[in-house]
Amino acid sequence: MIDSSRRRDCGDKATTDSTKARLQALTPGDGVTAASAFFIAPYAGEYAEEAEVVFGADGRVGYRDERPEDRSVEGVLLSRWSGTQTGPQRWGEHHARRQFHVMEAPLGCAGCAGPPHRDERGILWILHTSGMRLTGHLMGPVLVTTPPLCLRDASKAMRGCDVLQGGAVALRVTEAEVVGVRGMVYSPTETPEPGIVRFDDPRIRRVVADGLVREISHAEVDTTTLPILTDCSTPVGSRAGEARSAAH
Ligand SMILES: [Zn+2]
Repeated sequence: MIDSSRRRDCGDKATTDSTKARLQALTPGDGVTAASAFFIAPYAGEYAEEAEVVFGADGRVGYRDERPEDRSVEGVLLSRWSGTQTGPQRWGEHHARRQFHVMEAPLGCAGCAGPPHRDERGILWILHTSGMRLTGHLMGPVLVTTPPLCLRDASKAMRGCDVLQGGAVALRVTEAEVVGVRGMVYSPTETPEPGIVRFDDPRIRRVVADGLVREISHAEVDTTTLPILTDCSTPVGSRAGEARSAAH
């Protein structure tokens, strides 16, 4: 069952944080390092369990020793994780349970699970540019498993994540509905395959999910924030203030 209250866009959750204050609080070296903890990145001591997946009489997948916490509120089977938060973090990956936590409503920042940054253009999302067509506005919907970010963690991600360093774009998002999950899709006859499955797809009963998927359907490209986040030569607060002023 899908809880409709969670399938809403970003526009219903106005954050109360002061953009100006948060920008001024963000300065290079102020805890903004790749070594700092990042909420959704798995630690070396954490791993996805290889729990046995079985088909029920109703054709739905489950674990042989399934527990209530093994399913999302939508009833989707979740990947099981074990281990401890020790050792370095794997920046290019998502811990499945923590990814769900911040991608559900209300949206949380990928780095701290607090409110993501919002200004008059929308919520801040930083994505790898692979395969994306951008012309000031988004050209068509984009499915994302990457959560939005606050300013401090956006800066941290830009410096710590190899994937983003390969090419990143900042978006200001006003609509990003929860539409499905990413995970391994099981079949009674075939080898499991990774995929993205929407909630209205019958395969949703045969997936072990490791991430919640939102569809960004309304966004504009933010050309002012990204240069500030990646520029280590000047205090971020002053540069951010200049850029925001210039945008008006
Ligand atoms: Zn954050």
